[in-house]
Amino acid sequence: MTNVRGSEGASVPSLGRLSAVPAEWANGVEQSRHLATAVPGPRSQELLARRSAAVARGLSATLPVFVERAGGGVVVDVDGNRFIDLGSGIAVTSVGNANPEVVSRVQDQVAAFTHTCFMVAPYAGYVEVCEALNNLTPGTHEKRSALFNSGAEAVENAVKIARSFTKRQAVVVVEHAYHGRTNLTMALTAKDMPYKHGFGPFAAEVYRVPTSYPLRDERDGATAAAQAIAKITKEVGPDQVAAVLIEPIQGEGGFIVPAPGFLSSLANFCTQNGIVFIADEIQTGFARTGAWFACDHEGVIPDLITTAKGIAGGLPLAAVTGRAEIMDAPHVGGLGGTYGGNPVACAAALGSIAAMHDADLPSRAAAIGELMMTRLRAMQERFPEIAEVRGRGAMNAIELVQPGTSTPHDTLAAAVAKACHAKGVLVLTAGTYGNVLRFLPPLIIGEDLLHEALDVLEEALADATA
Ligand SMILES: *Cc1c(COP(=O)(O)O)cnc(C)c1O
Repeated sequence: MTNVRGSEGASVPSLGRLSAVPAEWANGVEQSRHLATAVPGPRSQELLARRSAAVARGLSATLPVFVERAGGGVVVDVDGNRFIDLGSGIAVTSVGNANPEVVSRVQDQVAAFTHTCFMVAPYAGYVEVCEALNNLTPGTHEKRSALFNSGAEAVENAVKIARSFTKRQAVVVVEHAYHGRTNLTMALTAKDMPYKHGFGPFAAEVYRVPTSYPLRDERDGATAAAQAIAKITKEVGPDQVAAVLIEPIQGEGGFIVPAPGFLSSLANFCTQNGIVFIADEIQTGFARTGAWFACDHEGVIPDLITTAKGIAGGLPLAAVTGRAEIMDAPHVGGLGGTYGGNPVACAAALGSIAAMHDADLPSRAAAIGELMMTRLRAMQERFPEIAEVRGRGAMNAIELVQPGTSTPHDTLAAAVAKACHAKGVLVLTAGTYGNVLRFLPPLIIGEDLLHEALDVLEEALADATA
């Protein structure tokens, strides 16, 4: 079935060829956009005032409302406004908010026991999540996993493990990278404002090399990789490098998809030099890009992979998974943490993974991507400010520039995002230059909602560029 809609009458692939998502996955939330008040409404305004009196200002707020309920592709605020969700809490609620598979397992677990500390008195859920990760992640080699609380903590541990295995110290990261907000992961992250500014000194032995950013560097993957490798070779020394750490598609950096061959060239260089190749799939993982992991699109098999965000339907959980001999390098007692792999979070992950299998969410993410990219490309024909439409599956974005130049247009991105919020569509911005609008819908969103959100985006672009 083909659905003709959108600007320029583009022929847009339908999600209809995929099985419909069960109605109960909407969590009782009416699946429509609705504005009951101005945004923010009076009850949200009251809470915003309490928020600024009680909460540190360092925590930003994308949408100026307070949430009461969420499900399917919709977030409901305390004033009864219903927003179409193109953010999924930053690629977290891929199975939808309060997915019934997640809720029932969490309820059972929380009633059975809430915490024992896996290192003190273990439980099966932790092992089952590790087994699932070892099966689902790229490569058929023998693997081990370890669980943590947050993405940053997983990245920190991946670096610990790589250093322990190689007995080397240097870690190589790339331009535009985002790996978290703890001390080591700030050092690994590229962008000063807002992530690093004033928070130094940062961890040592971190080296940054060029990446592949096809829109802006116009190089093929092999050429871009050669430049990165030359820098590692000349400035760091391959035999000093414990790990090369990279997001297969950069998230906060602007949904930058490297040119084909870039990742595989870097991975091969790592293999040849005894360097641990770590894929940070915290944002790209768990069906988001139309495959279980973004590395799968290029047949790249990382030595270690970090996951978090989409893994547990909204509960805090993160993991490092990888080659058994690397994962088992640290001594007994060298890894862990009080809460890492908490039983409730593990139950949520098992529910979330089951839901992804049940609804074949990797295929659904791919179909969402086809629909969105078709419509976004039609918008690109209409608006010269859209320099590029890019992404994979349900992780896609538009990069905005001053027409006819490559100058980033961050004020336009901010204005369009704000206009979408006022019209009841939750979109996020990203990018080193702040000029990227990124879209991360829940993978169970309905097709009509997706079209409506894109209609609103198109209106907002038209108004802001008029
Ligand atoms: C979000 C993110 C992190 C950090 O995860 P937290 O859970 O916020 O600590 C690390 N790497 C990537 C690629 C991310 O998108």
